[in-house]
Amino acid sequence: MNRRIRKAAVLGAGVMGAAIAAHLANAGLSVLLLDIPPDHLTDAERARGLSLHDRKVRNRLAENGLAAALRAKPAALYDAADAERIETGNLDDDLGRLRDCDWVVEAVVENLDIKRNLFLRVAEATGEHTIVSSNTSGISIAAMATDCPVSFRRRFLGTHFFNPPRYMKLLEIIPGPETDSEVVTAMVEFCQRTLGKGVVVAKDTPNFIANRIGTYGLMVTLQAMEKYGLGVDEVDAITGPAMGRPKSATFRTLDLVGLDTMVHVARNVQQAVTDDQERKAFAIPPYIEQMVSRGWLGEKTGQGFFRRVETDKGREILALDLQTMEYRPRKKFASASLTAAKRAQDAPSRLRALVYGEDAASRFAWDVLKSVLLYTARKQGEIADDILSVDRAMKWGFNWDLGPYETWDALGVRRSVERMRQEGEEIPDFVSEMLASGQEAFYQRSVASKPRFYVGRGQYRDVDEPKQIISLARLKEQGKVIRKNSGASLLDIGDGVACLEFHSFKQAIGTDVIQMIQQSADEVEKNWRALVIANEAPNFCVGANLMMMLMEAQDENWDEIQLAVHQFQQAMMRLKYLSKPVVAAPHQMALGGGAEVCLAAHQVQAAAETYIGLVEVGVGLIPGGGGNKEMLIRALEGVPDGVHERLDSFVQKTFETIALAKVSTSAKEAKRLGILRHHDGITLQRDFLLHDAKQVAIGLADSDFRPMQPRLVPVVGEAGAARLKAGVYGMRVSGHISEHDEKIAHHLIRVLTGGSVARGTKVSEQYLLDLEREAFLSLIGEPKTQQRMQYMLSHGKPLRN
Ligand code: NAD
Repeated sequence: MNRRIRKAAVLGAGVMGAAIAAHLANAGLSVLLLDIPPDHLTDAERARGLSLHDRKVRNRLAENGLAAALRAKPAALYDAADAERIETGNLDDDLGRLRDCDWVVEAVVENLDIKRNLFLRVAEATGEHTIVSSNTSGISIAAMATDCPVSFRRRFLGTHFFNPPRYMKLLEIIPGPETDSEVVTAMVEFCQRTLGKGVVVAKDTPNFIANRIGTYGLMVTLQAMEKYGLGVDEVDAITGPAMGRPKSATFRTLDLVGLDTMVHVARNVQQAVTDDQERKAFAIPPYIEQMVSRGWLGEKTGQGFFRRVETDKGREILALDLQTMEYRPRKKFASASLTAAKRAQDAPSRLRALVYGEDAASRFAWDVLKSVLLYTARKQGEIADDILSVDRAMKWGFNWDLGPYETWDALGVRRSVERMRQEGEEIPDFVSEMLASGQEAFYQRSVASKPRFYVGRGQYRDVDEPKQIISLARLKEQGKVIRKNSGASLLDIGDGVACLEFHSFKQAIGTDVIQMIQQSADEVEKNWRALVIANEAPNFCVGANLMMMLMEAQDENWDEIQLAVHQFQQAMMRLKYLSKPVVAAPHQMALGGGAEVCLAAHQVQAAAETYIGLVEVGVGLIPGGGGNKEMLIRALEGVPDGVHERLDSFVQKTFETIALAKVSTSAKEAKRLGILRHHDGITLQRDFLLHDAKQVAIGLADSDFRPMQPRLVPVVGEAGAARLKAGVYGMRVSGHISEHDEKIAHHLIRVLTGGSVARGTKVSEQYLLDLEREAFLSLIGEPKTQQRMQYMLSHGKPLRN
């Protein structure tokens, strides 16, 4: 069956339901969000003379849920305007409307009876074409649908989102015993491609994969804490990045998740499993029971394992002492193995440095990891079909750097198993069998072939990745490098397309990157169909190399700076006027120079999570790579020729975007800010971004691509500048901006309005670039700008001076 999912309904508008509805709207679906009608009126409703029969009242819970999702921080929607695509209603009056939906996802309270009854009604209300799923965290999928007809059970399954659904990559798909394989395949494909999730298929067991292993890991951490007599802050020092876990480690994470949620999840396993050992492992320690009864649930109640307080020294974070149940100042935890771990280059060496050290932190980390690895291997066949799903679930759902089996490989399977045996542990057959067959690791990686993972009985299988994943790292291993210097490489990504990858520190643009842009342009012009600019680093590019610029400024090397800016501008012009298509593929942060690279490209294919903006004003500068000019040109696109009096408002908007250093909170919002164009593409699945950008590049190359023709740019001149300056003056006298801000604004205004010319004058791009360079040079000579640059380099945030 060829399925198309365009219209969805979400049942339950609580924390998860409303946020799932928002993400479905992000993905372009139209959504119906339903919750129960309330059984009493609020004071406000009564005052307005409303009754329980009024639709406004009956939809109140869904409306409130949606409103809460719209207020959520970080935002649940890519663009607030997409809320229009979410309609609200209630589960009594609107169930009939489910008939038009392609997918119904249930996210009501975690209660088997309530869910069971609801699915009986949903089975009646929906036709054969509608897929129905539950977002349950741990209730059995089979049990929820036992009373429903078999025709319903074939199109019913679990779709377990992680909170917050927009940002968390993992989505567990749990087929029920009778779910059609076609339905499972369609949902895997849809959730991966259209919703951008990392999909893992899990078995219908208590809490599925990630929460089962993750909560177990948490329970053994609590036990080890007692055994070693450590405090919560000390445990967090060990169980964070050193152990390949997020900075929030164990207890900060718990405070964020909420202790009530954690207790609920742990209890669910305890009640559902029969193995006494396992039940014991999930027993809630008395201090957590106490904290829950006191309402110390974490972030949402203002205190949990940590509490923020105001002291005379400013804000301080206190840690809970579990012996006295009082908050105390946090303790620094020093350990040789932690220091060694900090120095290590990658996650596997970090783990080895920590675990194979010789102090208490090492012993603690070993105890915790040993228990998690053994538990995971014991549960393997029960919870998932393969080890790959387990590793992915833990990385995507709990933000671990390495999954359990990757962790085991990093520690050395034979070495660690020997130590476990010496400590009297029983090794699961799955693992001892592997070692007995002479295999040393759960994964095999080689340059020539796909990575392989262990499937049991001494056998391995290829990691079967979707064809849309292109790995630059693997292409490099395969020798696909066309050109390379210290800051960037040009790679052959197949089908005649080359990819320019920045790999300088933080992908910052310095002279090496600029050189590689020019060389790539030469190379692509001669030998390739198109150029894509993309990379696999955490951020696309955080801007120009600020350190280098500051050093030159402090040494008063004005000629050097002038040359560097000129070269950057020319490199951007080279991209813009290349005779072959250039497609930029930003993801996460694309700031300053990183944004300018995107502005120079013929087309952008951005990851949905792209935070792009010209942020130079924050360091006392203005963009220096043609960004001002490109923003201006974009703003004026579509304004009819000769309508000069209308130009001012467009220039004003461009000025505000740059002067306020606005950064988009998504690729979609970047279009609203005028940084991306409406025809630029957005990819929700980050792993497919390079593939999509390459396809766009091929499409352009194959459709009679012609190089851009230079055009003159109409400017508003001195008269327009005077208007803008008046506004800035007002901001300064009212104390909203500093004198230095005003100075920067004047420079920016001069560039955006075209300097000393009359309104309506048409100027060349080079003329605007010259103004930009002049302004940039003038500003970088200012002591206050240099202070801002210095501050940004040492503190990572802007200085207001
Ligand atoms: P919530 O309490 O925020 O929302 C539950 C919603 O169910 C409320 O809007 C409530 O009005 C509605 N409801 C209450 N009684 C009902 C009834 N009798 N019939 C129909 N609806 C009723 O809960 P949540 O955190 O959004 O969780 C919803 C589901 O998602 C649960 O199954 C939960 O296990 C699962 N889940 C939660 C998280 C999380 O982090 N919160 C993560 C993944 C999955």
